[in-house]
Amino acid sequence: MTEEARHKYEFKRQLEELKSKQGQGTELISLYIPHDKRISDVVAYLRDEHGSAANIKSKSTRTNVQSALESIMSRLKYYKEPPENGMALFCGAISIGGDRTSMEAITIVPPQPLTSFSYRCGSNFETDKLDDMLVDRKTFGLIVVDRREATIGLLKGKKVTPMRHLNSTVPGKQRKGGQSSHRFQQLRLIAISDFNNRIASAANDIFLNVDRNDFQGILIGGPTPSKEEFVKGEFLHHELQPKILGLFDIAYTDESGLNELMDAASDTLSQLDVVKEKKLMERFMKELVSDNGLAAYGEDSVRHNLNMGSVDVLLLSEDLRRSRITLKCQNCEYASTTTVKHRAGEKATLEFGKCPKCQSTLNITEQVDVVDELSLIAEQMNTEVEFISTEFEEGEQLLNAFGGIAAILRYRTGV
Ligand code: ZN
Repeated sequence: MTEEARHKYEFKRQLEELKSKQGQGTELISLYIPHDKRISDVVAYLRDEHGSAANIKSKSTRTNVQSALESIMSRLKYYKEPPENGMALFCGAISIGGDRTSMEAITIVPPQPLTSFSYRCGSNFETDKLDDMLVDRKTFGLIVVDRREATIGLLKGKKVTPMRHLNSTVPGKQRKGGQSSHRFQQLRLIAISDFNNRIASAANDIFLNVDRNDFQGILIGGPTPSKEEFVKGEFLHHELQPKILGLFDIAYTDESGLNELMDAASDTLSQLDVVKEKKLMERFMKELVSDNGLAAYGEDSVRHNLNMGSVDVLLLSEDLRRSRITLKCQNCEYASTTTVKHRAGEKATLEFGKCPKCQSTLNITEQVDVVDELSLIAEQMNTEVEFISTEFEEGEQLLNAFGGIAAILRYRTGV
């Protein structure tokens, strides 16, 4: 797992937590400050807002907005200037059940630069600008072509999107009676060239509209010689032609051909997360179905194997949300550890029973995220940790069929 993947995961969790918070009125403040904004200007702006807030009718909303503004202003005192990527501050009175609220303040330094200043006061925190940063923008152009048809698509992040389908007017190889062979061949070549021009023109429209910084290159698939002719004839726009990454033999040239192309190009794309994740899941599945296969899944079995040092690769679903909770009795020595599932962004707040020994109340003395906890054990055991997204079929299976936790083993331990 790269440092980048780790940060992305933590950033995603922070956003989920922000989104889950709600105020009672319009009183949660979301403040975005880009690097080039002067802190003194921001403070002047907030002081102004503080003045306007005096007009808010509801006393509790007025008080909450004003104290949130004060809290932000006092935080800003510690900054001479905003960090390199700017900063986002969220502050307000969060509902914590019943009529109760608790004043919370969260500062996030985003992984990518913020470009504009904004101030919002609402019943939720505004995270749109940060959500955008989670999207994987790396984009590849896909073209699959044979004599009859062509399909053009985009591979963005982990998702293939078909964009255009074209049918050709290229006649089959058998000429009709009465036509001279020479004339027939000529017409056929003209039709092929015409079709290639139409494909290129559609592809130019689509690919040149993708942000240059995000566009990684073009993959072309199909039978021989259709795809080779398309490349050799240099039909694509002169800026796109050098971006062709490779040609791949595939059977289908309809929408399913785009997926076939992505699979065929997997070595070329091996830097792409989805291919790496897919390969890991395939390796896991293969082990799982073979006799004495080196696979384990489910929290208990994987935890056991991790502690034994027998896990080679730990596979964790990006959408796994579980906490490991330690409970202790108020009165006696009793203690136990248990795992609770919760929804994204929510803290585990379950009612726990009484102490089985003395019937006193049990308190939560420790709560850690299962991902953090397992990653820590993995680190000590030289186990590789990989996050698997749910944006592809096998990734969804990991979450839904295998509880979000699986392992490829070095050797079997019998559990
Ligand atoms: Zn007890």
